[in-house]
Amino acid sequence: MSSDCYRRRMDRDVIGGLLTQWGESSYRMEQIIRAQRTGAQSWDDVTTLGKELRARLAEHGPLWSVTPRERLVSVDGTVKWRLGLHDGREIEAVLIAHARGRRTLCVSSQVGCALGCKFCSTGTMGFGRDLTTWEIFEQALIAAHEADQQGARLSNVVFMGMGEPMHNLPAVFGAIHEMHRPAPGLGISARQIAISTVGWVPGIAELQEFPLPVRLAVSLHAADDETRSKMMPINQRYPIYNLLSACRRYCDTTGRRVFIEYVLLDGVNDSQADAKRLANILRDGRFHVNLIEYNATGGEFQGSRPERRELFLATLERAGLEASVRRSRGADVAAACGQLVTAARGKAVGKVPTAS
Ligand code: SF4
Repeated sequence: MSSDCYRRRMDRDVIGGLLTQWGESSYRMEQIIRAQRTGAQSWDDVTTLGKELRARLAEHGPLWSVTPRERLVSVDGTVKWRLGLHDGREIEAVLIAHARGRRTLCVSSQVGCALGCKFCSTGTMGFGRDLTTWEIFEQALIAAHEADQQGARLSNVVFMGMGEPMHNLPAVFGAIHEMHRPAPGLGISARQIAISTVGWVPGIAELQEFPLPVRLAVSLHAADDETRSKMMPINQRYPIYNLLSACRRYCDTTGRRVFIEYVLLDGVNDSQADAKRLANILRDGRFHVNLIEYNATGGEFQGSRPERRELFLATLERAGLEASVRRSRGADVAAACGQLVTAARGKAVGKVPTAS
């Protein structure tokens, strides 16, 4: 374990408290965020602050509350970071490249996850702790800087990294406000930010009241309770009927559609009968289905064959559903859906300097 594992936590609340205590203007905080946004690694790089103030802040802790420990780059351009936290724990974040210079960040909201979905590597870690607003937002600052370096733009954020975001909504909402607000926030449109849940029904009701029009994505992954409960223990608490009822209330209250995520698993949920059942339970026009290619995690599941996937898609479309296939990205560096776990795999092709 490296020596900086147990550094003091130094997130915005702590820094803001110190600045207020020292009689500094609140604008100092904005200067700090601007410096992080443009790649400052340590207090010495925040040259918009006086030398004395930088030295005082450095006595209390490092500039960053998340520290890149490893940076892996996929053959398709996807970047995955392993990030260290002040208490020695680690998380991962992924930046996915799209056409026309757009980039999507897949952000983590917790260390590990308590929900134990059977197809997901993060689920094997168990629950560590919730991330703070600042630990979430700093993942976006790192990603925005990386996008800038690539001549691109961080345009989208999906809460589909480690953890169940609905279990940590206060911190998630705080981070979304920071991502959305104009500079030194990231100015990301709320409609380009998606919160994904495996079906935490009370969280869906809470999201209805959130003032920013972010997207809701629900990982359904099965069209009957028996199959879903085998894959996702949460289904025993909130079965499909209750979950979809909460989604419909959300749609009716907000006027927004819900995105249904459905990972196609060979021989588990990808038959024609499954496709017809799915079409049947979603046939009221409030949903868009994303079919997801599964990335093997070394467990019991295999992804569906391409011909079964195409047949499944055609059946949904014939039944009048809007559906599309989401291609797997970053699988060669274990950065794809369901593969995030803090045990580094793959080949490091670039290293980010460690912040201090
Ligand atoms: S799929 Fe999401 S909720 Fe399920 S174990 Fe993985 S991180 Fe947790």
